[in-house]
Order: sequence, then structure tokens, then C-alpha cells
Amino acid sequence: MSNKKPIELSPPHFNTAFNEKMLMEEPASILAAFEEEVRTYVGRPHAVAVHSGTSAIHLALKVLGIGKGDIVLCQSLTYAATAFPIMYEGAQPVFIDSEPDTGNMDPELLEKAILELAEKGQKPGAILLVHLYGMPAKMKEIIEIADHHGIPVVEDAAEALGAEYHNTRCGNFGKLSILSFNSNKVITSGGGGMLLTAERELAEKALYFATQAKDEGTVMNHREVGYNYRMNHVNAALGASQFTKLNERIRKRREIFEFYKQSLGSLPGISFLSEHPQTCSSRWLTTLFIDPSTSGGVTRSQVQEALTKENIESRPVWKPMHLQPVFKNCPAYINGVSERLFTQGLCLPSGSNLSPHNLERISSAIKNVFS
Ligand SMILES: *Cc1c(COP(=O)(O)O)cnc(C)c1O
Repeated sequence: MSNKKPIELSPPHFNTAFNEKMLMEEPASILAAFEEEVRTYVGRPHAVAVHSGTSAIHLALKVLGIGKGDIVLCQSLTYAATAFPIMYEGAQPVFIDSEPDTGNMDPELLEKAILELAEKGQKPGAILLVHLYGMPAKMKEIIEIADHHGIPVVEDAAEALGAEYHNTRCGNFGKLSILSFNSNKVITSGGGGMLLTAERELAEKALYFATQAKDEGTVMNHREVGYNYRMNHVNAALGASQFTKLNERIRKRREIFEFYKQSLGSLPGISFLSEHPQTCSSRWLTTLFIDPSTSGGVTRSQVQEALTKENIESRPVWKPMHLQPVFKNCPAYINGVSERLFTQGLCLPSGSNLSPHNLERISSAIKNVFS
């Protein structure tokens, strides 16, 4: 093992200016303050703070009434946390492959899936999409298809806080959207998530399920099964104190991407995902793609091994859900794109606290593999 100082992929970056006085407030006011900050930034009328992005996705499906046997059309190339909540409800994921421009849900395959299911008399209960590593998905096309067929969209914006698509912030699309404040995301509350929506009724329903499905009144009366998903006030206070730094954090992550692109972009066989007009990625993690047919024989694994030797963490792009053993029996609409991105893609350290010296260390380690 190398004795060089470790460099992590995306370690928590805390704003140390934490106002402890905030903790003296009523827990409910602390939660309301954090929710207010996030929903104002994203531009959505209602927000419910919960203890993870995963629980926010679960609640989104819950309030849409997704249950046993219902079909959810889910992006295949994502972190498993996107898809697991479909299983919690006994629903049926149908995975949709990616288009090559953004790595996100392919609108053409999505439509194909909807039409083929319609022929069998089946209508999906929801479309669950992701902005991979902070790169906005093709929202215009997807929303058009979803609206045309009357299928609600759930937007997993866990990696895309601060990203923009046609002047709308990610986290402000679909019937319901979710964010994560997990410790490796752009902003962390030490752990947490948020569910956002324009519809008051959905927000109230989500809050009800997140707080043990209690009926109104002082008697603890329950007609349905609930969850203990509400964010606690300590995490909310921490989240609010971090949120003031959001723009700085995004700027830093975008600068890190520019650095990698400048210093590695001319190596043979290397490419990055680039932004389309009127979109802005949060660049949560910079992802490098290495095409072995043009890289002079260099592979993704070789680059990863070279980084590991230098005590630098890197990680292959998410393994698509349709290739996961746990989902092996799920239907999938596949075009090969996500599998290619997975086999060629490597996520590089992108934390907003990464120093110029460490960026140089990473870039030289990669260049060495090519020389
Ligand atoms: C992190 C992440 C989640 C889950 O968020 P948690 O807060 O860790 O539960 C969901 N989807 C995607 C795409 C993520 O990256």
C-alpha cells in the first residue's frame, strides 16, 4: 500500500460556520427553515425533509399510489438507490437504457417501452429518471412523452443539486422530485434527503407517511402503515448551515471538471460528457471515458490501478441496473449505451475541497499510464 496521502472521490466538505444557536429553536422550525431554503433555491412550492434520498424516492412512489405489480419505468444507468424503492412496494421495475449524449434515460427507448406495454394493455405507474453525475437528462423530450401518455415523472436529482436545464433548476421537474444530502453529495447535512413537489396534497401525504401515518388528533390512530422517515432537526440545522455555500461548491466542482478536461482531454481515446446548449451540470463527479480501440491499448482498469497505487480513489461508472444480479429477472429496454459507459467510464476525485496540488497528483498519475 502506498504511503502517499489518500485522495477520496467526494469526501464531505463542511462549512465550519455552524450556528449552534439554531439548535435552540423548536425542531419543527429548524426543519421548516431548511425546507424553505431548499425549495426557494430549486423553485418548488413544497418540500419535505427526510432522512435520505432513498426514503424520499420511496415516499414519491408511495404518494403516487405505486403498489404491488405496478410498473415503474426506471433509468438503468444509476445508483441502485434509485431502483430499490420500487422493490419495497412490490412493484415491477422495467429498465430503460441511456442515450449517448448525457448518459441518461433515452427518450426513444422510453416511448418504445410505453407503446409496447400499451399493446399488452399495461400502463406504467411512473417514470423514474436521473441526472447522472449532475448532467441534466433530456427533460423536454421525456416530459413530452410522459405528458402525452399521462404517466407521472419522478425526478431523482440526488446528484444534480445546482444543475440547470433550460433555465429551470434540476429538482424542479416532474410531479415529484428528490434530492440527497448524503455525505458525498454536493451539499451534505450529514445525511438526509428531500422530496419536492408543486402539489400541496402530495407534500402533505408524503409528510404523513414519513411520520408514522398518524391520523389528526391527540389519539394515536393509524389506518395505514407509516414510516419513520422524517429528517431530524440536528441534520436540518447542519444542512441549512451548509446550504449558504452551495454556489461556491458548484463553482469548485465545475472548475475541477475544467481542469481534468484541459489536462487530460488530448490523451488518445479519452472523452468526457459535455453539456448541451442551455444546460449546466453540477459536475458532482467528473467522469472520464476511455475507449480502448483508440487509446493505444490503455484500459479503464489500468488507469484505476495506477490511481490506486498512488492512494487515489476512483470508481467505475455505476453498473447498470439491468446487469445487476438482484434485478436479473426484470424486463429492460437496452441499446448497449449504458453498458459501454459502464465499461469505459471512471469517476475521478471531484470533492469541492480538493487542492490544486492533489489535482496535479491525479492528472500526472493518469498521464503516466499513457506515456
Ligand atoms: C445518492 C443517491 C441516491 C440516494 O441518496 P441517499 O441520501 O444516499 O439515500 C439516490 N439516487 C442517486 C442517483 C444517488 O446518487
